[in-house]
Amino acid sequence: MTPVTGDLDRLADFLGDARTRSAVVIVDAVVESNGYGERVRAALPRDVVVSTHVVEPGEPSAAAVDLAADAVRAAGRGAAVVAVGGGSVLDIAKLASSVATAGDPVGVYALGARRLPARHVLVAIPTTSGTGSEATRTCIFSDSANRKVWAWGDELLPDLVVLDPQATVTLPATITAATGLDAFVHAVEAASGQRRDAESVKAASQAIALVLTSLPAAVRDGTDLDARAAMQRAAHLAGNAIDRSGTGVAHAIGHALGTLAHVPHGAAVAVGLDAALAWNVDAAHDRYVTVADAAGVPVAGLAERYETLLADVAFDNVATAIGTIGSDAGRIAATMGAEENLPMLDNNASPPAPVDRHHLAERTLQRWTTWCEHGGRR
Ligand SMILES: [Zn+2]
Repeated sequence: MTPVTGDLDRLADFLGDARTRSAVVIVDAVVESNGYGERVRAALPRDVVVSTHVVEPGEPSAAAVDLAADAVRAAGRGAAVVAVGGGSVLDIAKLASSVATAGDPVGVYALGARRLPARHVLVAIPTTSGTGSEATRTCIFSDSANRKVWAWGDELLPDLVVLDPQATVTLPATITAATGLDAFVHAVEAASGQRRDAESVKAASQAIALVLTSLPAAVRDGTDLDARAAMQRAAHLAGNAIDRSGTGVAHAIGHALGTLAHVPHGAAVAVGLDAALAWNVDAAHDRYVTVADAAGVPVAGLAERYETLLADVAFDNVATAIGTIGSDAGRIAATMGAEENLPMLDNNASPPAPVDRHHLAERTLQRWTTWCEHGGRR
């Protein structure tokens, strides 16, 4: 079930074994312009007919998936899909590789309304270290009503994942920080949630230790290949953990901020955990014992340890670059409880009641303002 992982050299052998005649490279616009897209094309077998579909920046939308699916159809029936980019591009390509084989737009599969069709051969090459999209059977996209919705199925798990630290060296510090924090939030939520199991707790614990040691180094020096490689492993392990065990309230907050104010995913869930961790630990202390162990602190010191991580990766720069969140606590709390976000609330270490949601939404806005204006200091 778990995809094979390897380096870029593995790509040609893999597609050769799969007898691939054509491939469509679905690539992030920035990654294409910095030359990494070309590096991937050069690593494909010589006799494969290659086309390229460039995805413009932004969180994935149904329209972007449908456009990518057209490119997959144009590449032919047996074409392999090679996805190169951050979580948004991987999600778009994962969905496109499946929906391309049927005639319907991606919207009909939202929230599990219909089973996804069998997909093309799929390779994922993440160029950020955070979402773990390459390791999950979930994709998130905004529907035509601008709701953040999910699709889920075995079809969304790639056949091959290429983890190449060179793919991430040009990521700016603020994006390195925000995406890396997403991996940390995945690990904490999977290891403390209702659906956790021994395997997800083990993967998440390794991810937590890796992020705490490697993310500040990767933010300080983007060319530190050891730190970059460690973050790729962390994001992948945390992706495995959420694929088994799901996320929690920080992701419900994050999706609400994404829907209402277009806050990028990593920054949104990072401030969500900043708002929620102390509340979670109070409400469900025992669920945080292994998380705290992995972080090398007592449970009572966990929220403070997370704040230190946020400071070490200059989360104030992340927040300042995004600016004021144009929403209010009432709307954030209501969106946290919307149909598409309820599974995350139900899975949280302690599922929050409506009154708790409002408190957490208020605290999210307070913490965001504090990071923007005072570098996170109270
Ligand atoms: Zn996430």
